[in-house]
Amino acid sequence: MNRLILAIDQGTTSTRAIAFQPAPEGGLQPLAVDQVELAQHFPRSGWVEHDAAEIWDATLKVCRAVIAQAGGADRFAAIGITNQRETSVMWDAATGEPLHRAIVWQDRRTADATGRLAAAGHESMVQAATGLILDPYFSASKFAWLLDAVPGARARAEAGEVKVGTIETWLIWKLTGGASHVTDATNASRTSLMDLATRQWRPDLADLFGVPMTALPRICGCTDHFGDTLTDLLGASLPIRGAAGDQQAALVGHGALKAGDAKITYGTGAFLVANVGTAPVASTSRLLGTLGYAVGGTVAYALEGSIFSAGSAIQWLRDGLKALTDAGQSEAMAASLKDNGGVYLVPGFTGLGAPWWEPEARGTIVGLTRDSGPAHMVRAALESLAYQTRDLLDALAADGAPRLSTLRVDGGVTANGFAMQFVADVCEITVERPAFQEMTALGAAKLAALGVGLIGDLEDHPVEPPTVWKPSMSKPERERLLKGWRGAVKAAIIAAQ
Ligand code: ADP
Repeated sequence: MNRLILAIDQGTTSTRAIAFQPAPEGGLQPLAVDQVELAQHFPRSGWVEHDAAEIWDATLKVCRAVIAQAGGADRFAAIGITNQRETSVMWDAATGEPLHRAIVWQDRRTADATGRLAAAGHESMVQAATGLILDPYFSASKFAWLLDAVPGARARAEAGEVKVGTIETWLIWKLTGGASHVTDATNASRTSLMDLATRQWRPDLADLFGVPMTALPRICGCTDHFGDTLTDLLGASLPIRGAAGDQQAALVGHGALKAGDAKITYGTGAFLVANVGTAPVASTSRLLGTLGYAVGGTVAYALEGSIFSAGSAIQWLRDGLKALTDAGQSEAMAASLKDNGGVYLVPGFTGLGAPWWEPEARGTIVGLTRDSGPAHMVRAALESLAYQTRDLLDALAADGAPRLSTLRVDGGVTANGFAMQFVADVCEITVERPAFQEMTALGAAKLAALGVGLIGDLEDHPVEPPTVWKPSMSKPERERLLKGWRGAVKAAIIAAQ
């Protein structure tokens, strides 16, 4: 019986496929998985590229492997796709060949272009329309750069012969043999070209950034029928019935469906996405306004804040400072101290993200004494996750977002019980970690399963209960710590000026 869902999770460092099946308790459970690492290219300082052809080959490989493990394509009802967001691809519509390497979300090459638009006074209009600040992070300036970099590409795009898109658009084009040039509205909300309220492209923004409308995909809802795969690719023609950017897919995976539900993924960086309900909220705290999901007539908007360095601070302690041999040791080291000894670490290794947006800030350690040792560094790094989360939650509150009930967490760092308890304490919020951690893939699978009617809603139906951390720190202690943190952030920002 065709009751399985194939979730494709195309991430920054790897491409994964997971087969899900309906669980007896409701919801979906994993059945088979395959993964291929992805090569990173750094042609110049600040430039990050992926090979779109390699991404396509890897996608086919992991899909075929998972389909074989799960007993054949005929057992599958639909495909759901989730992807690294903002990463931009350009290809020839006739041949389906990429015309340049993909420009990855971290790439800063278009900083001058977006800086010029900001200097010309366009930021408030762009933010009001799209929810996004002017920054090279988003796809529009990357599309324009690609169209200018390849001779003739812009003219050919205007003639409909060259297409651009984010990763899900590229994969759907390839899976359907060029029959579908489509994006989902969450990925479109990360381009700077989509009007957040109407979920349509804005021709004036396309003009402003220099991206011909003829090159852009059609915007769909997250459970629309995106197209059908060519039969010979996977062994059957499967409908693509779900798509969402990775952070939004994780929101759906967590079942964070109501205003006031929020999730934060603590991986290399950390990404907070808070569901704010059925209408966009304009941020005055430099959070990003974005789409949570659009499913049939149901639309959820979100506010998002990114922390650039989370687990990467632990990696630095391990690989740079050699204070650890393994990330897992950090928990016992931090817990071996009775407190932080007044030591704070601001992990601004690549600048500070929301709500500070200080690209020139760098990592800063304050409060060292002759008693400070490696354990203080480790503890300060773990504590910094909580302080940065608190800054984001304060920004959410300042924007008038609905009060958060619990904070749902996933990602590698959530293995650290000390860090999660500290998040609960410093943020005064209950922290919940689901037993099944692949929230991104689960979100994509849920969308596709809903699309084909295999499940009736996007609610969470965990088989095992979550791990829960409740706040227990006293108010004076919390305020003392937050005062120390704010002083440290100020020092990091002043040092950058
Ligand atoms: P990504 O998806 O961004 O690659 P993951 O979710 O796989 O990240 O998480 C990896 C990160 O988690 C690494 O930066 C690593 O240092 C950190 N990490 C893993 N285990 C622990 C732990 N026990 N304590 C703190 N950090 C950890």
